[in-house]
Amino acid sequence: MPFKIHFRILGIGAALLAILPLSANAWTNHAYLTHPALGGQTEYQVEVVTEPLESFLSKEKIKIGELLKAEETWALSNVRSYPAAPPALDFSTSKETNLRIRFLKALRVNPNLELPLYVMQLPGGPPPKNKPLPKSAVSILARDFQGNLYIPLQSGEKISALEVLSSASDEPDYGLDIGLWEDNDTSFSKEYGYGKQPFGNPKLDYGTQAPFHMGFYHESTIVYKAAPFVKKSFPEQRAHLYHSLAQFAFQTGHPYWGYRFAGWGLHYLQDLTMPYHSTIMPGRSTLTMLSINLLDMIGIPGPKESAVGEVSRAHILIEKLLVQEFREAFQKHDNSFIMIKALRDTSKDSTYPVFSDQFPSQVAAKESRAAAGDLSWALKAIVTDTGLYMDIEKISMEGDYDARKFIAGASEKDILNYNRIIEKQMRSAGAFSRIYMGTLKDSGGKK
Ligand SMILES: [Zn+2]
Repeated sequence: MPFKIHFRILGIGAALLAILPLSANAWTNHAYLTHPALGGQTEYQVEVVTEPLESFLSKEKIKIGELLKAEETWALSNVRSYPAAPPALDFSTSKETNLRIRFLKALRVNPNLELPLYVMQLPGGPPPKNKPLPKSAVSILARDFQGNLYIPLQSGEKISALEVLSSASDEPDYGLDIGLWEDNDTSFSKEYGYGKQPFGNPKLDYGTQAPFHMGFYHESTIVYKAAPFVKKSFPEQRAHLYHSLAQFAFQTGHPYWGYRFAGWGLHYLQDLTMPYHSTIMPGRSTLTMLSINLLDMIGIPGPKESAVGEVSRAHILIEKLLVQEFREAFQKHDNSFIMIKALRDTSKDSTYPVFSDQFPSQVAAKESRAAAGDLSWALKAIVTDTGLYMDIEKISMEGDYDARKFIAGASEKDILNYNRIIEKQMRSAGAFSRIYMGTLKDSGGKK
């Protein structure tokens, strides 16, 4: 269709590829969200007994094979642009003898994750009783500017469901979705059948997870026509998969894995509450997006470069400001921090529908998409050191830094306006986390 070709020529693809070169982490530390969101619910104070993954897999091998088959059938008919899983990866018939690798390959996630027993300790906690694990024991990403404490656990040790959930909700950012596309040059990506990476930077490890953690479900028809690959993103599929696995683990008497899988699923739902994960270019209309691409094609690249750079910088600063404030609040045990209060606030929970397969795209992503424009303008209003801000991509690659430097001296009114938008997203992240968990119950092994 000439129309389609025409818009391809406009270079939307190139723009998307360039978006998010550095930041695909959404709220940066999901334990900071999950702990307040579920901390007020007594049911998550219960203790569960840890169990190694291999034990769960060997005990439930046959039923897991059946569950994953049903999950594949669901995805094929419910997830747009979902590529079928190659039969060689089928958990029931796979030739892979290592059960963990067999399982991870059947899920089509990175098989190099060891998934040891551990919990992340929040800042301000007591001195850890066991020597913390290095980041490399839990993650395939070498860079660690957060300094999180990962405390190893023994098999059979008791741990609260809340801690398992909080810790696990951060885990999908440790590499599960890294290197899965056929152009990612990993030993397994050619087996997976996902095809070429649709957007995000295929050369940067964390850039390769973008299409699993971002979902552009509410762009205009013209954008989908011009760039159909925008549809190829799978946070909703991941949320569904881990919800099914969690339900199964609870029903078969493996509550530790019930909560760990549930935490993984929560991650994707929470990611979609970040407006920069549900919107291609926050603050820019479709017409603007198309126009700047057209200008780029006729040899005027400035407007596109500036728009793409702005999206990336804003994404980084929004996340960094929030994670820094959270860290300080946890260190000081400050439960009056507005974002913690918003996450704990249950007053809006009943205004949302119950959790369903399409909740991530039709409720979470839709709402955050609607907030994206205001957020981009509100952020612009508080950035005072624009020179420094232009360098934030580089600064964020070099180590930890003080995000407040970028907004020093911003007016109180503008800060309040900005915080009000983030606070609303936090209230939703809290509500959605409880709504998701409301459909999962530890039945003590009974169906
Ligand atoms: Zn994520």
